[in-house]
Amino acid sequence: MHKNFMKPLMGLFLFVIGSPLSAQTGRFQQAVDYKMEVAMDVNSNQYQGKQKLAYTNNSPDTLTRVFYHLYYNAFQPGSMMDIRSRTIADPDRRVGDRISKLKPDEIGYLHTKSLTMNGKPVQFREVETILEVSLPEPILPNTTVTFDMEFEGQVPLQIRRSGRDSEEGVRYSMSQWYPKMANYDEQGWHANPYIGREFYGIWGDFDVKITIDKTYVLGGTGYLQNPNEIGHGYEDEGVTVPAPQGNTLTWHFVAPKVHDFMWGADPKYKHDRVQMENGITVHHFYIPGPKTTENWEKLKEFTPKAINYLSENFGQYPYKQFSVVQGGDGGMEYAMSTLVTGERSLPSLVGVMVHELAHSWFHGVLASNESLYPWMDEGFTSYATNLAMANIFQASANPQRGSYAGYYRLALSGLEEPMSTHSDHYHTNQAYGSAAYSKGAVFLAQLGYVLGEEVRNRGLLRYWDTWQFKHPNFNDLIRVMEKESGIELDWYKEYFVYTTKKIDYAVKEVKANGNNTEITLERIGLMPMPIDLVITYKDGSQESVYLPLVIMRGEKAQESFTPQRIHTETWPWTNLTKSLIISKPFSTIKSVEIDPSKRLADVQQENNKVEF
Ligand SMILES: [Zn+2]
Repeated sequence: MHKNFMKPLMGLFLFVIGSPLSAQTGRFQQAVDYKMEVAMDVNSNQYQGKQKLAYTNNSPDTLTRVFYHLYYNAFQPGSMMDIRSRTIADPDRRVGDRISKLKPDEIGYLHTKSLTMNGKPVQFREVETILEVSLPEPILPNTTVTFDMEFEGQVPLQIRRSGRDSEEGVRYSMSQWYPKMANYDEQGWHANPYIGREFYGIWGDFDVKITIDKTYVLGGTGYLQNPNEIGHGYEDEGVTVPAPQGNTLTWHFVAPKVHDFMWGADPKYKHDRVQMENGITVHHFYIPGPKTTENWEKLKEFTPKAINYLSENFGQYPYKQFSVVQGGDGGMEYAMSTLVTGERSLPSLVGVMVHELAHSWFHGVLASNESLYPWMDEGFTSYATNLAMANIFQASANPQRGSYAGYYRLALSGLEEPMSTHSDHYHTNQAYGSAAYSKGAVFLAQLGYVLGEEVRNRGLLRYWDTWQFKHPNFNDLIRVMEKESGIELDWYKEYFVYTTKKIDYAVKEVKANGNNTEITLERIGLMPMPIDLVITYKDGSQESVYLPLVIMRGEKAQESFTPQRIHTETWPWTNLTKSLIISKPFSTIKSVEIDPSKRLADVQQENNKVEF
């Protein structure tokens, strides 16, 4: 801003802070209530829909425009997703140039036929995957308006996440299929075009009626309201389902407090139901065959197990249903459900199920803006998946080692970009994937090193209690962890999230100093961290030294698996070396090692240990 503009603006500034500050800076949640009716033509793969959307503006702002996502328009030659998929240095093999080759009956589209707000016509303009809407009158703070829309769509050939006729022969993987209101929060509108990476939605209640050929079996988000009319494995025990009148069935689903709605549909689906003791029902939908049936039968044991493990460690799963639906192109998380490819080995099937289920906590209920903070969803989900898989399969090795290895490869590749990058704007798929999945998992695992495992675990439950259904950002998580630990963590956030500065500490020198031993440590990497140093003596005994940072303004408690602490001393980050005197003769020392627990994400481990 040019400084000549400062003076007149000062008056405006004073005027603004004259109004209540809490209303200017506070957090809020917009609210939606969708009622939709859709009719699918399984021959043309086209559908007609009606949507009644009650939209509540809980923000302190007056809205003159709104934006809807029209995701299916991405699946057209020349779309932003198409161009990006073909020009990125390391294309996603699932997409590549496939969008550019879609024929007219294979493309996806989602078009608005009519739209009114409170019964008055609105002006709207389709800009590829975003519908820009100018309102006939503004939406004032704390008011609810009703949008009525008629829309029509064509399901694209399966390319990315959703679509028809997947490689495994699933007819419909229906995600990102309806006009979806973009989110507006304290950072404004998030009307991101659909380029490829991740989503952000508004919580609300969904009431969805889907009319489709009567042979199709449906599963996904939402509780079926008319099971005894529909049958297909939903009917109550002992009920005889009447034969449908005509060729279609209308499935009525209700999903309370979710931010998306997905459904999969295929006439060949086998529908398994598992009733858990805690009242949750697990549904599996898959096409039976030599590559599926045996493993999906075994999956019935693992899905409930994983729900229980994740509920105990990350907060109680809040819905009464979870559905694993064969479809899509890998694994993708949705409200109360997931779409996964089904022709997998048992470990792979369990692994993808656990990962997508674990998303229910971070994508489903905490629901950070995952296009802006993909690592808070994919990374934390990977962290939870690693733990759940180790628990389910009784593995003893460090469950997070794969995530650390992924981060180290990224850090040394020269491709790393800060985790504060918006997911669509990473330069390469590798930089995005490794930052979001691996470095994001390391962020939480390493927080256990900084705060202590128990404090970090309690912090995660407090995070769940404080921020569920509120779209936390990473500062919100940091604040919870600071409150739980009494340790300042702004440096951890600033270095690990905003920058690509790396951690590299070394044991520089160990030598005799009279009857004592002098140990000199060195910080080589640009990111400062607290240091756990373990000294092993020739008689096999061990002791530890703890060197927290001054800027932590606190310290973690001794952890049970760390040898007895003999010394604690802060290490100012400005000092590149740190010397310690240990009151044992040099001749008694076998080795000196930085963090044997391997939780410190030190990119150069060879210099972490000196052995004699
Ligand atoms: Zn994921």
